Amino acid sequence: MTQPSADRRSFLSIVGLGGTTVALGACSGTPAQAKGFPVTRSEAEWRKRLTAQQFAVLRQEATERPFTSPLNKEHRKGIFACAGCDTAVYPSRTKFDSGTGWPSFWEAVPGAVGTKTDRKLLYPRTEVHCATCGGHLGHIFDDGPKPTGKRHCINGVALTFKPA
Ligand SMILES: [Zn+2]
Repeated sequence: MTQPSADRRSFLSIVGLGGTTVALGACSGTPAQAKGFPVTRSEAEWRKRLTAQQFAVLRQEATERPFTSPLNKEHRKGIFACAGCDTAVYPSRTKFDSGTGWPSFWEAVPGAVGTKTDRKLLYPRTEVHCATCGGHLGHIFDDGPKPTGKRHCINGVALTFKPA
């Protein structure tokens, strides 16, 4: 589960090959979450603001163990926000019990999340992240309930809940 971050990889390539030209070339290959989001912080800043578990999920795309999040049993009305930047990402009305052990939603707040293709497993999956800070939230599958048919399978540790 411990993968070197993009920054670390770039750093190592600079050290290994010695030269700023190489470093610039390496930067063009960094993942989308490294830049282009309204909220950006250095790895050190994120580590300071987040718990170790939040950092592993939000910034390193780890997955929490199923049935560990207290938010699985959160059934009150309210809003689920990104634990990284506090942006509202999922309204409670789209939450449903998927039985998977992860908080599940059939729709995000419009415009609040972004997606990319995750090829870490043998089959490609749709990764979903906070559109404001780029923090990894979970994955989207096509076996969700109506009306969307989507299942946003979200790490509870990446969310905070605010009752309405
Ligand atoms: Zn965020």
